[in-house]
Amino acid sequence: MLEKLFSLGYSKTFAERYYQLWGERAIRIAEAMEKPLPRCFRVNTLKGTISEITKRLMKKGFQFTRVPWAREGFCLTREPFSITSTPEYLTGLIYIQEASSMYPPVALDPKPGEIVADMAAAPGGKTSYMAQLMENKGLIFAFDVDEERLKETRLNLSRLGVLNTILIHKSSLYIDELNMSFDKILLDAPCTGSGTIHKNPERKHNRTLDDIKFCQGLQMKMIEKALEVLKPGGILVYSTCSLEPEENEFVIQWALDNFDIELLPLRYGEPALINPFGIELSPEIKKARRFYPDTHKTSGFFIAKIRKKG
Ligand code: SAM
Repeated sequence: MLEKLFSLGYSKTFAERYYQLWGERAIRIAEAMEKPLPRCFRVNTLKGTISEITKRLMKKGFQFTRVPWAREGFCLTREPFSITSTPEYLTGLIYIQEASSMYPPVALDPKPGEIVADMAAAPGGKTSYMAQLMENKGLIFAFDVDEERLKETRLNLSRLGVLNTILIHKSSLYIDELNMSFDKILLDAPCTGSGTIHKNPERKHNRTLDDIKFCQGLQMKMIEKALEVLKPGGILVYSTCSLEPEENEFVIQWALDNFDIELLPLRYGEPALINPFGIELSPEIKKARRFYPDTHKTSGFFIAKIRKKG
């Protein structure tokens, strides 16, 4: 069993962790990570309707299925030539986006006119989806620390016709300096990215437990800041593309133990783990969700929907 994970290139530490977490299923997850994911896209309803834009693509021979949790999301089952060379892509009628990444904006459900923060925005996939759900009305304050990724974000937002977003090149740990409070906050947190091994195979062996600890520390600080600037009754959606419980369930358990919040139910994905590595967590943690490459044909992904009480 462990030999199989070693032969796929996983370090001893991570092979053992994954076996402890999922038993035999660890192999199915690892094998699914070896295969490319289906290419998925989101129709940009800021520039056209779902039926207009999907019809245009179908006429060109593209075929696709719906993403169950995103009305605007589709995954290609036939791509006669690269969809990124179509006018539909180049003029921002669609945006290429992994299916699990479409869920956080849908779960947050920002409405036209609301004041929203995106605490880790680049390259803007989820920011632009939120702008779309908000019909370009209201305001999104979108933070990122990475200048190169912000350049890409600017290009993406402009191609997609996003007008209600202010990009801020600064750590969102300073979000309180805006002196504002937010109706809704998306925290698609920086993480070790172990759910994206299909794109980054080096992550099978070059990550360490210290990397996980470092990300966890940052994730907790970001959640604390988010809850400070969120309005009472406001919603925070926390997500990562990490498989590690320390960056997911443990962070949410810490938040439940330290702040006046509750978890709200989510419909899609599998219930989060409540006994990872034999550590018993609150049963409420099941309301958070996990997506896996073997069952959902997505990246490994985690999402929790949090309401600040009051
Ligand atoms: N939400 C993005 C999307 O859907 O396109 C992906 C975000 S990616 C998972 C995490 C991002 O966090 C990276 O772009 C990274 O530069 C950014 N980041 C890391 N530390 C940060 C901080 N302290 N404040 C704001 N952004 C940060």
